[in-house]
Amino acid sequence: MRTVLVCGAGGFIGGHLVKKLKKEGAWVRGVDCKEHEFAPSVADEFIVGDLTKQEVVASVLDRPFDEVYQLAADMGGAGYIFTGENDANLMFNSASINLNIIQQAYLQKVKKIFYSSSACIYPLYNQKDPGNPNCAEDSVYPANPDSEYGWEKLFSERLYQAFARNHGMQVRIARFHNVFGPEGTFSGGREKAPAAMCRKVAEAEDGGVIEVWGDGKQTRSFLYIDECLEAVERFMKGSFEGPVNIGSEEMVSLNELAQLVIDISGKKLSIKNIPVSYEGVRGRTSDNRLIKEKLGWAPSRPLREGIEKNYQWVLSQVTQSVSAI
Ligand code: NAD
Repeated sequence: MRTVLVCGAGGFIGGHLVKKLKKEGAWVRGVDCKEHEFAPSVADEFIVGDLTKQEVVASVLDRPFDEVYQLAADMGGAGYIFTGENDANLMFNSASINLNIIQQAYLQKVKKIFYSSSACIYPLYNQKDPGNPNCAEDSVYPANPDSEYGWEKLFSERLYQAFARNHGMQVRIARFHNVFGPEGTFSGGREKAPAAMCRKVAEAEDGGVIEVWGDGKQTRSFLYIDECLEAVERFMKGSFEGPVNIGSEEMVSLNELAQLVIDISGKKLSIKNIPVSYEGVRGRTSDNRLIKEKLGWAPSRPLREGIEKNYQWVLSQVTQSVSAI
């Protein structure tokens, strides 16, 4: 039986990945420093442990798994990554996790290891024009990510590549671009833009106002979770190692995203843009030429469809928490 370890299984993407792997019939061990917030894990074994600790990694990665998915990271949305207040933790925790995992995967002769990097590795100087950002895979150097989160991801990409080069390990590196969907953090400061917008709209009274950070003209693209996992599956099955973007090319401004959520909600709301010191790059979107060429993959559904599902889920969560008070 196919044996799989999912690191970060208590998180958003990890939780969905465990469900998918179980449907495919794999034996799955999940590990995270916390239980999943929204749904009990369906992993065969779920271990709560801190992956910054070598001894924890040695105990969970104790056999030659067929596949290891390394998704654990100290991360969050713009309110967590860009304020500067969490930089030391972001770098130390995530780098420690990656150092521990790749070394242990090597010692245990893991057959294939997936590493989730991020669009945040791309240089600031290519993302100043909201209408025309450049996030092609080979545009990463000279490096200048706009956050320590991005620098750590870039370091860890190189770490995994070095182990592949020197020890013949089978490594797959993907750069995720804003993945969203149900069962993702939507409050508390670590949530990302689609979840935050859905929460604000779900909580707003009809006729009210929702706040959008910055001038709202900054652009991004967003990928629904099911599409992301389909790309990961194809990537893991093939021989191409990456790094490769996994994202959408359907670029929208943040005000357009907010308006989309408002339209879906059926409420009449207006948008108020509020200045923040940490709004991130002006423009960012996936460049899917490489993944199309290597894996024949592109997202199959429009942004609106994913946002509709996400809004319904966030609305149900918000309604539940209001009725629980
Ligand atoms: P998430 O925060 O929901 O999941 C990450 C998980 O890692 C969390 O459950 C967290 O508890 C766990 N973790 C953190 N520190 C840990 C530790 N010391 N020991 C054990 N577990 C620990 O995030 P996600 O959206 O599911 O992202 C998964 C991965 O994909 C992350 O590596 C992230 O950097 C990357 N990524 C995500 C996106 C996105 O849009 N969601 C974009 C780019 C990259």
